[in-house]
Amino acid sequence: MQTVGFIGLGKMGAPMALNLLKAGFAVQVFDRLSDLADPIVRAGATNHNNAHSASVNADIMISMLPASEHVESLYLGATGLLQHLTPGTLIIDCSTIAPASARRLHDAADGLGLAALDAPVSGGTTGAQAGTLTFIVGGLATNLQRARPVLNAMGKNIFHAGDAGAGQTAKIANNMMLGIMMVGTAEALSLGVANGLDPKVLSEIMTLSSGQNWALDHKNPWPGLNTNMPAANGYQGGFSVDHMLKDLGLAALTALQSGRATPMGELARNLFALHAQQGHGDLDLSSIIKLIDKKNSG
Ligand code: NAD
Repeated sequence: MQTVGFIGLGKMGAPMALNLLKAGFAVQVFDRLSDLADPIVRAGATNHNNAHSASVNADIMISMLPASEHVESLYLGATGLLQHLTPGTLIIDCSTIAPASARRLHDAADGLGLAALDAPVSGGTTGAQAGTLTFIVGGLATNLQRARPVLNAMGKNIFHAGDAGAGQTAKIANNMMLGIMMVGTAEALSLGVANGLDPKVLSEIMTLSSGQNWALDHKNPWPGLNTNMPAANGYQGGFSVDHMLKDLGLAALTALQSGRATPMGELARNLFALHAQQGHGDLDLSSIIKLIDKKNSG
C-alpha cells in the first residue's frame, strides 16, 4: 500500500483526501487549521501537526493550497519541505498557482532528486466530492505515469498539458474563461428577468441554446433555482470570489509577460475585484450577480 502525505484540507483538499482513503491509500494529513482533519481522521487518516511530520515515509506528497506564496513557503527555501523528503518522492501540487512558481518547484525538486508535477484541477467541490475531477498536468510523462493511480482515485479525466508549469498555464486560461462566462451568465439572466422573464424558464432556454455554458449549468447565479448550487445557499462554499480573483490576476500577469491582450479577462478581473472590495471575497463566484443585478445585491 502506498502512503500519501496530504497538505491543505480546505473545500477541495478534504474531499480529495477522503477519496484517496476510499481507494485504499494510507493518508497522512496536515492543515494549519487542525479541526479540518477531523472527518478525514475518522475515515482512517493520521493527523499531523506539521507538514514535515505528515511527509515521513510518504511515497507521494500532494498539496492543495490557496496560492503561489503558500506553495513556495511550504516546499522551498532552507527550511522547506523538499529538504526533508527522501529522493524519489513524487510531489503533486494540485493548487492553482503561477506557472513560474510551479517551475521553481520543479527545478528545486529536480536538484534534490525528487519528482514533481503541477496538477491543478477543474470540476469544483462537487467534482472533488464525487471523485470526478479533471487533472491538468505539467511535468515529465514518466512522473505522470507514477501519479496515475492517485489521480484516478480523485478524478475522472487526466490531461498531460506539457512540460513543467504547462498544467498551470492551461488551468489559468480555463479559469479566465470561467470568470468571463460567469459574468456573462449573470448579465444575461439579469437582462431577461428585468424584462419580465422567469429566471428558471430563461435558464432552461439558454441551457438548450447557444448561450449554454458551464457557469449556467453548474453554478447558475440566480438564487433559488437549483438546491444543489451555492446560489440556493447564500453563495456559501464552492469556489470563492477571492480564488477567482487570484486566477484572473494570474491570467493578467501571464498576458503581460507574453505580450497578449486579454480585454475580457481584464474586465472580469476588475468586476470580481470590485465585488471582493464590497466584502464578498469568501462567497462562491456565482455571487457576482449581486454586483450585476440590483435585486440580488442584498
Ligand atoms: P481553501 O481556502 O478552502 O483551502 C485551502 C486550505 O489550505 C485551507 O484549509 C488552509 O488552512 C490550508 N493552508 C494554507 N496554507 C497552509 C500551509 N502552509 N500548510 C497547511 N495548510 C495550509 O481553498 P480551496 O477552495 O480548497 O482551493 C484550493 C486550491 O484549489 C486553490 O488554489 C484554488 O484556486 C483551487 N481550486 C479550487 C476550486 C474550488 O471549487 N474551490 C476548484 C478548482 C481549483
